[in-house]
Amino acid sequence: MIQETYSKNRSLKEVSIETDLLIVGGGLSGTCAAITAARQGVKVVLVQDRPVLGGNASSEVRLWALGATSHMGNNNRWSRETGVTGEILEENLYRNKEGNALIFDTILIEKVKQEENITLLLNTSAFEVAHEGTQIQSVKAFNSQNSTLYKLSAKRYCDASGDGVLSFLAGASFRMGAETIEEFGEKMAPNVEQYGELLGHTIYFYTKDTGKPVNFTPPAYALKDIEELPRFKNIQADHTGCNYWWIEYGGRLDTIHDTEDIKYELWKVVYGIWNYIKNSGNFPEAENMTLEWVGTVPGKRESRRFEGLYMMKQQDIIKQNKFEDAIAHGGWALDLHPSDGVYSALPSCTQWHSKGTYQIPLRTAISRDIDNLYFAGRLVSVSHVAFGSTRVMLTSAVAAEGVAVSAAYSILNDVLPKETVEKEHITKIQQALLEKSSYIPHLKLDKSKYVSSKAKVSVSSELNLTELRTSENWKTLQMPSAQMLPITSDQKELSLRVPVNASEATTLEVTLKVSLDPTNFTPEKVIGLYSKEVKEGSQHVDLTFDVSELGDTYVFVCFAPNTAIQLNYSEDRITGILSVFRKENKAVSNFGEQKPPADIGIDGFEFWTPQRRPEGQNIAMQIKTPLFIGKKENLNSGIIRPVQSTNAWIADFEDNQPTLTLEWEEAKDISSIKLYFDADLDHAMESTQFGHPESVVPYCVESFRIKDENGKCIFQTETNHSTLCEISFDQPVKTSKLEVEFDRKNNSTPVSIFDFICN
Ligand SMILES: Cc1cc2nc3c(=O)[nH]c(=O)nc-3n(C[C@H](O)[C@H](O)[C@H](O)COP(=O)(O)OP(=O)(O)OC[C@H]3O[C@@H](n4cnc5c(N)ncnc54)[C@H](O)[C@@H]3O)c2cc1C
Repeated sequence: MIQETYSKNRSLKEVSIETDLLIVGGGLSGTCAAITAARQGVKVVLVQDRPVLGGNASSEVRLWALGATSHMGNNNRWSRETGVTGEILEENLYRNKEGNALIFDTILIEKVKQEENITLLLNTSAFEVAHEGTQIQSVKAFNSQNSTLYKLSAKRYCDASGDGVLSFLAGASFRMGAETIEEFGEKMAPNVEQYGELLGHTIYFYTKDTGKPVNFTPPAYALKDIEELPRFKNIQADHTGCNYWWIEYGGRLDTIHDTEDIKYELWKVVYGIWNYIKNSGNFPEAENMTLEWVGTVPGKRESRRFEGLYMMKQQDIIKQNKFEDAIAHGGWALDLHPSDGVYSALPSCTQWHSKGTYQIPLRTAISRDIDNLYFAGRLVSVSHVAFGSTRVMLTSAVAAEGVAVSAAYSILNDVLPKETVEKEHITKIQQALLEKSSYIPHLKLDKSKYVSSKAKVSVSSELNLTELRTSENWKTLQMPSAQMLPITSDQKELSLRVPVNASEATTLEVTLKVSLDPTNFTPEKVIGLYSKEVKEGSQHVDLTFDVSELGDTYVFVCFAPNTAIQLNYSEDRITGILSVFRKENKAVSNFGEQKPPADIGIDGFEFWTPQRRPEGQNIAMQIKTPLFIGKKENLNSGIIRPVQSTNAWIADFEDNQPTLTLEWEEAKDISSIKLYFDADLDHAMESTQFGHPESVVPYCVESFRIKDENGKCIFQTETNHSTLCEISFDQPVKTSKLEVEFDRKNNSTPVSIFDFICN
């Protein structure tokens, strides 16, 4: 028993921790930064004021994490985030394809707890910063659950707290609001009076059908007059969670200090909407429904943005500017919202897309005032307009991984964060990121330092694509439909034979298009055009295009809609081969074509986007000028996703036991192996609410074994479901040969792999 008499001076229990890197904020950015830094070999303390990790992606807020793929509604093919962010998404798909936010929480906690280098302090709020001159010295944080005061000191600090509590208290320069057009020449800069300056907060709700009638009496504070919401006609009984992203409020207030008031207003709107659904009589289908969950922590979109060594702007995103210190990629639209949110009569968002993905420079994450401070998440150094794109969680999370590698490098090599952007350092940081499967547009993994680069490589077969085989699946050519095919600079012609079914004599219009920038997937330049007369019935249409002027690039074989014509769709699913359609995806402002008003600094172009599985089959055709898309030399590309080619070794369809063999003249000591598989980087893999058809994507090799020179199996798995499979051996394996046997899943999906490295 503990019994104490009156004491004049009591104080909290205090715990001091010294670490290498202190990260404040355990949203997706802080979490991915912590895991990445820990794996680079530094000690990390991760302080998160909530009981779970994930921030807006957690079960407390329940936003689906998105990034460059933009719900697969823009032209950014194969742009999904990789690295630790991708690992989390792929694990979430494996365990939780239904998108249960609670399961997503468990994955984040598990990943962090598995890292010995991370000390995780949940329920712990950072509230005080000691700093002297341009250095942060320590941070105080309080845990209300264990009533402990933590004094945390570190060599480097990373602020991933959303509102930027750490940077603010450390005195770093920041902005809150919108820049004028004049400041950076950003033509999308809002008219502040009409549109406001800040994006507001949101609270979501989930409902469920109980199978019997349920009454609802609204709380006294619920909104009474639903017509106060200009968008009330959008309310639907079957909408839930993220469908209600437009319940937004607070953009005209102080989105930090007024947050509690904003929360009450959002609850008022949420319960008012539910009252309308339950009691207006307009939704009889809601009779058995009840509220299952209402958010208690508002999802915050925007507050402070801190000033780094560089501030990204609209032009960097639209022109896809290149940076020497690029650490990550983005691709979400420039997405701004009227500050009046749910009470605004204006469209609830303005989204303008770029033609492809863009680079994010490290300098946006390094404080220009405080020497040992990094930024991560939505608070990084970007203009209000650029923030419209960089703020989404998967984009901020991959940039945060770049921050983590830079921070670890700066600690281990005793250089300042700002020095890590210099050529001699940034190249190593970029290479470390690429090795961990991160994507930085236009950069390649330098393979020369790996033992694997000295090996003689042989493969059991290589796919020379001569056909996308026909199936029983004929579909009417309802909308513009295209088959994407990669061609090489040495190719003179592309010759195709397309099976067609016509209900009457008609004309088939086919256009061959390419992107002006071969690293984009926005078909905009016409290379060839056909008007083919077809007769009633089944037949083949022959098409030959001159491609001699093109370099390595994807071409789009575009079929104009014609309801008298059916095309055949193949069951063959092949790495780097995709069909796309000119269809709308209003959720991301894709109306088939981007038609911006003049003079807002945005390009006009067509959207050609894929269908989600189980749809999205390739258009069947014979390829009379075969495409050598699966050659083993693709393993040397240093790029682990399709860009200007498949970048993958792809085995032949008929290869029953695809095998990759590496041989050296002398035995080598192998202590680590990395294999980079195709976990479908075109798949948006939304983390929450959005269900997905399968837990492992069809292209991904699940089962394989690695054998040494004696045929002894040194590694095997049957459960791979990730882009990056990392294998390390406690004792190096001495061998002059490695043989990797891959198991094919079915006859229509050939085995593929982007890269294999070992050391
Ligand atoms: C309604 C809404 C819809 C959106 N739509 C999407 C979408 O569809 N997809 C998408 O990817 N993004 C979307 N966004 C944007 C995205 O959610 C945010 O930009 C993103 O969460 C920013 O990530 P972050 O890690 O910086 O912040 P957060 O996710 O907010 O994480 C910061 C964490 O730091 C913690 N923290 C704060 N202060 C302290 C402290 N003092 N001590 C310790 N911890 C602290 C917070 O509790 C929080 O968990 C949306 C945002 C909102 C609000």
